[in-house]
Amino acid sequence: MNLEHLNELKKLLSSPKKIAIIPHKNPDGDAIGSTLALWHYLVNTGHTASIVAPNDYPKFLKWMPGSDQILNFEKENSQSKSCINNADIIFTLDFNHLGRVGQMSEILESAKATFVMVDHHQEPSDYAKIMYSDVKMSSTCEMVYVLINQLGDENSITPEMANCIYTGIMTDTGSFKFAATTSNTHRVIADLMDKGAEGTEIHHRIYDTNSPSRLHLLGCALKNMVILEDYSTAYITLSQNELDTYNYQKGDTEGFVNYGLTLDGIKFAVIFIENKEEGIFKISFRSVGEFSVNDFARKHFHGGGHTNAAGGKSDDNKEETIAYFTSLLPLYKNQLQS
Ligand code: 5GP
Ligand code: MN
Repeated sequence: MNLEHLNELKKLLSSPKKIAIIPHKNPDGDAIGSTLALWHYLVNTGHTASIVAPNDYPKFLKWMPGSDQILNFEKENSQSKSCINNADIIFTLDFNHLGRVGQMSEILESAKATFVMVDHHQEPSDYAKIMYSDVKMSSTCEMVYVLINQLGDENSITPEMANCIYTGIMTDTGSFKFAATTSNTHRVIADLMDKGAEGTEIHHRIYDTNSPSRLHLLGCALKNMVILEDYSTAYITLSQNELDTYNYQKGDTEGFVNYGLTLDGIKFAVIFIENKEEGIFKISFRSVGEFSVNDFARKHFHGGGHTNAAGGKSDDNKEETIAYFTSLLPLYKNQLQS
């Protein structure tokens, strides 16, 4: 965070405040890890803080210390609204524009609190008075670690906070393998281990607590994979019927899209997942190298994200969505073949 914004934040936090902390819709490990770490920090330093999530999040994140305190805007609507309306400060974490919180955007837009953004996605919008945006960062969790250090409170990182921050860095970097993983990321992880993060236990809780039905759903997804060698592309579809057949639970499809990239020569991997209730296909895009899925998702599928990981959606049916998607690939042939 630059000095001007940091000083402003220091001033704001110099007396006890009412604070709401907001992750994006369908929060992932980085969103939940960063909001929880910040929540522990703020509560431990004398503030009254609440986390309000736009909706529910996967079970494999529910062991995280403090997660039982997270309000779900869909289920605990009036309590969530009063937290937001009464807040002096609203921290928004791991997203770059208010559209990313779904139904909650309206109430955030009318809130009178001072907004603080902490985020690593490209092209942030300017709703926050205090901004900490760094697209080079591996994760919002790494930024929360840096921010607490900048506030001069590195010694206040408890084992609970260390576990939360470790989790988000681990999940957003694909266990420390994606390009955004820097030597500094590893230094942060080393310090978190010194401060009590239990790396092996976290890996186990996130990656090794599958249900049999999730693995069967993965089998179905892999069977559905279509490989378009001419465009170094692999895509997967999962229909609502298939999700129902394998008793889909929130979070079950996390990471499926990455399997396409494990194929030799594949640079662009996509998964289209039907959500009948919302009448959409939710799409995840991944790439290796220069090809920007952020641009692709933004331009064609109402989405965005990072250069190598982005998301979007389609309101069309499966056939139309796939036909549209494949019709776009020739436009990118040069980038995808290089
Ligand atoms: P995922 O595919 O894991 O849901 O998301 C990959 C990345 O893209 C994440 O950083 C996520 O925040 C971002 N992302 C996912 N869906 C959307 C979307 O609909 N709009 C925007 N702007 N970003 C998204
Ligand atoms: Mn993130």
